[in-house]
Amino acid sequence: MTRPTSSPQPPEPLEPGDGPPVRRPRRGRTVLICCTALTLCLGGWLGWQALADSPAASSPAAAPAGDGHLAGDASAVPEQPEQAAGPGSPSASEAGGAPSAAAAPSAAAPGATPGAGALAGRTVLLDPGHNSGNGSHTAEINRQVDIGNARKECDTTGTSTNKGYSEAEYTLDVVRRARQILQDRGAKVVLTQDGDRAWGPCIDERAGIGNDAKADVALSVHGDGAPAGVSGFHVIMPGRVTAGKADTSAIVDPSHRLGLLLRDSFKAATGEPYADYIGKQGLDTRTDLGGLNLSRIPKVFVECGNMRNSGDAGRMTDPQWRQQAAQGIADALTAYLTTS
Ligand code: ZN
Repeated sequence: MTRPTSSPQPPEPLEPGDGPPVRRPRRGRTVLICCTALTLCLGGWLGWQALADSPAASSPAAAPAGDGHLAGDASAVPEQPEQAAGPGSPSASEAGGAPSAAAAPSAAAPGATPGAGALAGRTVLLDPGHNSGNGSHTAEINRQVDIGNARKECDTTGTSTNKGYSEAEYTLDVVRRARQILQDRGAKVVLTQDGDRAWGPCIDERAGIGNDAKADVALSVHGDGAPAGVSGFHVIMPGRVTAGKADTSAIVDPSHRLGLLLRDSFKAATGEPYADYIGKQGLDTRTDLGGLNLSRIPKVFVECGNMRNSGDAGRMTDPQWRQQAAQGIADALTAYLTTS
């Protein structure tokens, strides 16, 4: 996503380290170490469960952050989301963009990894924002669609880094990585697009795919295109909209819970600071996004960073960082699904 707003502030780079190296225990100690590992895993799992239930999910301190501009988010934060700012059409790839096939096995999670069957029977909708083909299908993506309380472009090209790594490439890569993690935990994962269509889908269809799949939860992945001097990530939650075919009244509360989990999990996994130019404490609430307005299942967007900021761009073009982002996303969805 991009938006024309501004209020420059310096970036705040922060990079987490890799996971600890794997050690091979000596034979004679195998049993003891296995027991220890099992204990640690169990402890980690319980801790992870507790975290998902922790005050962060219902903290009175955190809640107002998003609620503050429930009614007036569009005016309080003048922005213009699913919209490409520049002429820039998505194009070239860079920096080892090896997508899903190269996805490394789960990187170090911020907590213990849930069991393989933790998400059995659950369906997750993942929505990689934009499409690398949108730039060459302007007539199609400029078509206006009904988002309930307004009409808006079907889709946009999205933004890109200054070096040309596109938002569409980024979002699809991260979503594929997150899909792998979630599938490993037993979830059925549905994508709105998987690099398998020439353009789109339109934002109303993106919401519809999740609704039709009867997914338990949905998440849309984006990178922002704000002025170069600002940075950080933020999570966008749906505000209350009942207009035309939009009715978010049933998803506002659960989406807020998801938003808090994602905010915390994404930060823990990536070390990325909260956006310093929008929202509050990494959270924003909006009523002008078709993908949220038309969703009948709990859903949030994550703007993983500002692709126009050199620090954020450097991280977002790093496959290892993208794996961490995917881990944070998958862990949040897992926590949401196992505690709802
Ligand atoms: Zn976007």
